[in-house]
Amino acid sequence: MKHYDYLVVGAGLFGAVFSHEAVSRGRSCLVIDKRDHIAGNIFTKNVDGINVHVYGAHIFHTSDKRIWEYVNRFAEFNNYVNSPIAAYHDETYNLPFNMNTFSRMWNIRTPEEAEKIIESQRNEYIAGMKKERGLSDDEEFVPANLEEQAISLAGRDIYEKLIKEYTEKQWGRPCTELPAFIIKRLPFRFIYDNNYFNDRYQGIPVGGYTGIVEKLLEGADVRTGENYFDVMNSAGTCHEGVLSDGERFTFSKLLFTGQIDEFYGYKFGPLQYRSVRFETEKLDTDNFQGNAVVNYTSKDVPWTRIIEHKHFEFGKQPVTIISREYSSEWEPGAEPYYPVNDEKNNALYEKYRNLSESDKDVMFGGRLGLYKYYDMDKDIMAALDLVAKELA
Ligand code: UDP
Repeated sequence: MKHYDYLVVGAGLFGAVFSHEAVSRGRSCLVIDKRDHIAGNIFTKNVDGINVHVYGAHIFHTSDKRIWEYVNRFAEFNNYVNSPIAAYHDETYNLPFNMNTFSRMWNIRTPEEAEKIIESQRNEYIAGMKKERGLSDDEEFVPANLEEQAISLAGRDIYEKLIKEYTEKQWGRPCTELPAFIIKRLPFRFIYDNNYFNDRYQGIPVGGYTGIVEKLLEGADVRTGENYFDVMNSAGTCHEGVLSDGERFTFSKLLFTGQIDEFYGYKFGPLQYRSVRFETEKLDTDNFQGNAVVNYTSKDVPWTRIIEHKHFEFGKQPVTIISREYSSEWEPGAEPYYPVNDEKNNALYEKYRNLSESDKDVMFGGRLGLYKYYDMDKDIMAALDLVAKELA
C-alpha cells in the first residue's frame, strides 16, 4: 500500500502551492479533488481560443514582490489592468471611485470640485449619525457597518448609485448588516485613474490559470473526481483512505482546503457562504461590451456583473464568450465562493478553529478552510506561511 507524507484535499491554489513546496522538499503528496478538474475556482478552460474563467473573473494583483516573483515562475503574466465599468440604469461610470466617476456623476472636472461635493455629503451624513448616537461635535464617528463606512467615505450619491444595490445583490443582506472591511477593498481616489487595484503588480497569466496549477502539482499524485468523505469512509480509519477505483493508501498528515464546518460534520452549526451561478453564452460578435468586467449596480437587473472573457487576454477571436454572474445564499449542494465574515459567522468559525487546534495531524487552508475572503496573493501567502511552519 502506498504511503504519503501528506494527503491534500482540494487541488485549488492553496493545496497546489503547499503540494509544490512539500514535493520540492522531498515529501510525498496525494492531492485529491471532488471536481473532475484541478485548479479549484481559478480553473480556466479554453473555448474557441478564449480562456474562460469558469468560476468567475480572477485578476492577479499583489503588492508583494516575493509573491509576484513566485507566480511568475509558473506563468508569464500579461499587462492587463482591471478597469471595470458600472452600469446603473442608463448611466455608465468608471470604477473604482475616481475622478472619471465623479466627473460623470456631477458634471465637474477638478479634484477640488469633487472633494467639495463629497465633503458636504459626508459631513451632512456624519452630523446626522452623531445626533442619532448622541455624540458631541468633537467625538469621533466610527463607522460600524458597510453602509456607514461607504457613505462616510464616498457620500450619498456614490453610495446609492454604485454601492448599495450592488452590495445587497452580491451579499443578500442589507448594507447595515455587512462588515465595513468589504468596501475598504476598493480604491477611492481623486485622480483620473481607472485601475481597480492599488497594487504594484497586476496581470493575467497568458494561457489561463489552469497551467499554473498544473505546474505546481508536478511531482504529486493527483486524483480528481474523488470526494474526501467517501475516500475516508471507505477506509474507516483516520490515516488511511480508499480511492474510487479501490486503491488503498495511508498518509501521515492531512491538509484540508474544503469547508471547515463540513469537515467537522457541522457540529456547531453551518457557517454561511455566498454562492455564485454563471450563465455562460457564446455570441456571434467579436466585442459584446468593450470591457472584461461590467458591474450592474442597480437591483432591477438580476445579475451582478457580466464578464467578457476574451478581454482579459486582449483576444482577437471573431466570436466572444460572456458570463452573467448571479449571486445567491449558499445551500448544501451548491458551490461555496465567499465566506460571510460578519461577527456571527466569524465567532462560529473561531469555534471550529479552536477545535482544529487539537487535531495535530490536520491542517486547514484556503478561503473555505480558513473562512477568509482571500485574494489569490493572500491565499498564496497563507500557504507559504503554512509551509514555513510545517516544512521548515
Ligand atoms: N462593490 C460595490 N460596487 C461595485 C463593485 C464592488 O459596491 O460596483 C463593493 C461590494 O460590496 C463588493 C465589494 O465592493 O462586495 C468588493 O468588490 P470586489 O470587486 O473586490 O469583489 P469580488 O471581485 O471579490 O467579488
